[in-house]
Amino acid sequence: MRYLDEHVPDTLLGPAELELRERLRTVLASEVAPRAAEVDAAGAFAGPSYQALARAGLARLLFRPEHGGTGHGTVAYAMAVAEIAAVCASTSLIYMTQTHAAFPILVAGTEAQRHEYLPSLCSGERYGSLAITEPEAGSDVAALRTVAYRDGAGYLLDGAKTFITTGDRADVIVCFATVDPAAGRDGLTAFIVEGDAPGLRRGRVLDKLGMHGSTTAELFLDGVRVPAGALLGREGGGWELSMRSVVKSRISAAAQGVGIATGAYLAGLDRLHAGGRPPQRVAFALAELRTAIAAARLLLYATAAAADRADAPDLVAEVAMLKLACTDLGVHVADTMTGLLGGAGDLTGTGVEHRLRDAVVTQIYDGTNNVQRLLVDRDTRKRLSPVLAGGSEGSSPERREAS
Ligand SMILES: Cc1cc2nc3c(=O)[nH]c(=O)nc-3n(C[C@H](O)[C@H](O)[C@H](O)COP(=O)(O)OP(=O)(O)OC[C@H]3O[C@@H](n4cnc5c(N)ncnc54)[C@H](O)[C@@H]3O)c2cc1C
Repeated sequence: MRYLDEHVPDTLLGPAELELRERLRTVLASEVAPRAAEVDAAGAFAGPSYQALARAGLARLLFRPEHGGTGHGTVAYAMAVAEIAAVCASTSLIYMTQTHAAFPILVAGTEAQRHEYLPSLCSGERYGSLAITEPEAGSDVAALRTVAYRDGAGYLLDGAKTFITTGDRADVIVCFATVDPAAGRDGLTAFIVEGDAPGLRRGRVLDKLGMHGSTTAELFLDGVRVPAGALLGREGGGWELSMRSVVKSRISAAAQGVGIATGAYLAGLDRLHAGGRPPQRVAFALAELRTAIAAARLLLYATAAAADRADAPDLVAEVAMLKLACTDLGVHVADTMTGLLGGAGDLTGTGVEHRLRDAVVTQIYDGTNNVQRLLVDRDTRKRLSPVLAGGSEGSSPERREAS
């Protein structure tokens, strides 16, 4: 396998991240790359690829050892998602979804909930899903209509979810509902729903443009009874929890963008150089793509490092800029490589066309890129309006509202 390592972004990787990258690459080369084309062509769930990473202890980053994790931080995690996405984007989607299900449990769970769920999600023994989106509530999370009624000591959940990654087989579902439909975001509440809970019904697995090796499913909750111990955090705490969780999930999507861009660039490079030195217009286009990938990787690692700082300010706008830039880059690089290759770029064997298909959804999930534009615009106006009005620069407490 070939890699596009760049000296400058690599300066943000310490010995622990570099050692992890070597171990990842060994498993990616032997277990993930050989299956990647078949996963895409057949639409086969890339579980074996994800499980190979999990078996090697590479799917437990971001979590502390007492919860079954390795203790690696967000830079390592972002680097890992990008490395995996460069080889097989579907595998990276399964990989990050495990983290997206586990992370709210780390943030808001009791110690008992953490010990119950995190080790098995980290080891791949159980699959997890994060279920927020509904048929009538996508970008507007506060509009969700899955209701949680108090029922004795526990709750009854009623509603429908859609577009849920790994939803067809998840053993653990972190499900967002409302305890008060009239309260908007103040009613949002998260629950841990076991995959075999009576009343939980799996709907269709949806056919998609890309990411063929990852499943996206409907879920129906018809009077799903959960115990009081399934409440994640506090009643009404779901909005804040989702906002804390999207920092990690948007970094994941951004890392996929960097990885897919890298994979598409490398897949087309050999072919474009095959007949000797390519024409200058091609060489210049390749130079621009490599420059953009290096810049995106640098932004990815730097933003991930900022997110790990204990004294980190609210990073909503910074993470939005990262997600926007890196996922747009994934589409741009795959699209440009397709154009440079001509007809060959459209062929399945070249390794560029499926990356173009895989890249598109990274612009949609974890907050569409229009939502990221809204967040950046809101932050710009909050920070700069006092300056424009002749006052002093905006303060960080104002920025905290920008979610
Ligand atoms: C493959 C895949 C996997 C997914 N996995 C999961 C998952 O695991 N869990 C989960 O909960 N969800 C998941 N999703 C759902 C995803 O997060 C939503 O599709 C996304 O949030 C957008 O919601 P929507 O599809 O309802 O589109 P809408 O919100 O209806 O948006 C439609 C269009 O309108 C734009 N738009 C919306 N609001 C505004 C606004 N205020 N200003 C400007 N433009 C706006 C959007 O940018 C978009 O272009 C997944 C989706 C896909 C496709």
